[in-house]
Amino acid sequence: MKINTSKVVIIGAGLVGSSTAFSLITQGVCDEVMLIDINKERAYGEMMDLQHGINYLNRNVKVSVGDYKSCGDADIIVITAGAPPKAGQTRLDTLEATKTIIRSIVASIMESGFAGHFIVVSNPVDIIAQYVYQLSGLPKNQVIGSGTSLDSARLKTFIGELIHVDPRSVHAYTMGEHGDSQMVPWSHVTVGGKAFSQILADNKERFTGVDLDRLVKETVKAGWEILERKGTTYYGIATAVSGIIKAILYDENRVIPVSTLLDGEFGEYNVFCGVPAILNRTGVKEIVQLHLTDEELIKLRHSISVVRSYVESL
Ligand code: NAD
Repeated sequence: MKINTSKVVIIGAGLVGSSTAFSLITQGVCDEVMLIDINKERAYGEMMDLQHGINYLNRNVKVSVGDYKSCGDADIIVITAGAPPKAGQTRLDTLEATKTIIRSIVASIMESGFAGHFIVVSNPVDIIAQYVYQLSGLPKNQVIGSGTSLDSARLKTFIGELIHVDPRSVHAYTMGEHGDSQMVPWSHVTVGGKAFSQILADNKERFTGVDLDRLVKETVKAGWEILERKGTTYYGIATAVSGIIKAILYDENRVIPVSTLLDGEFGEYNVFCGVPAILNRTGVKEIVQLHLTDEELIKLRHSISVVRSYVESL
């Protein structure tokens, strides 16, 4: 009898990669986490540090350092290799350097016979996810960018703080580019089933001066604010990526906004961008086709045009 075990490989054992490994291990999400990094010493150091905590956890998750030959039996490969933007750089400024790294990584992974799911985190994530899709030849549902999963969680946190509600009771997404042009479809933001706009209208005294544009700006700026305060960001994205991995491995059919290939949705074709999607064992099972207002659709298509202008150069 064959007992199936779940294996997640993380390429890039830097801050995002090792935090993702930590999140997976502490939650016992999979049976094995394998780290691969061009800096082998770093990968071994992270592996040892992670292994030494297993004694206090609920599961003995196997942690290892591997190479691309050992990727063939992985269920999920998370790509975090690449340098985060430095102060003054946008995510898009890191594109050329990251493309070079990604080209060699994906070629080596595909030589191993890998046929599972890619989760791309390296920035600029929408464009790099599309690049991985093109290079790997895997079906579109199996290549997923972390997209606006973290931005949406930030937005939910801000809305929750504003009206004193658990962010998990807020339904809200940011869509489009994981970057400055992303937008919020406010007509679909609800809390406890009630439209956010109605909550504001019914409670004018409590929520005077709420500025939706400012909330969007704060959401977009949040990553930069963290960068200014502590140099870079990793816990938030690591937790979001663990959520995506859980949705796939446990066949959850959970809706998470991720970067995926549009094929007619929102009137757009052949471009990756952040949209709410149903995730299960097949990866992206379906994109949630929200009925956007005309104004929202214009904003989303503008954001997509920003991504597309870079995709054309891939
Ligand atoms: P980091 O510098 O701490 O780690 C990057 C790691 O990649 C390093 O350990 C490095 O040795 C490794 N690496 C570089 N080239 C490699 C190669 N060819 N093969 C294997 N490993 C290689 O950076 P970080 O803070 O972990 O950020 C990683 C990436 O994640 C960046 O692109 C960053 O912009 C992105 N990021 C994305 C989000 C998101 O929401 N999508 C959030 C935070 C960070």
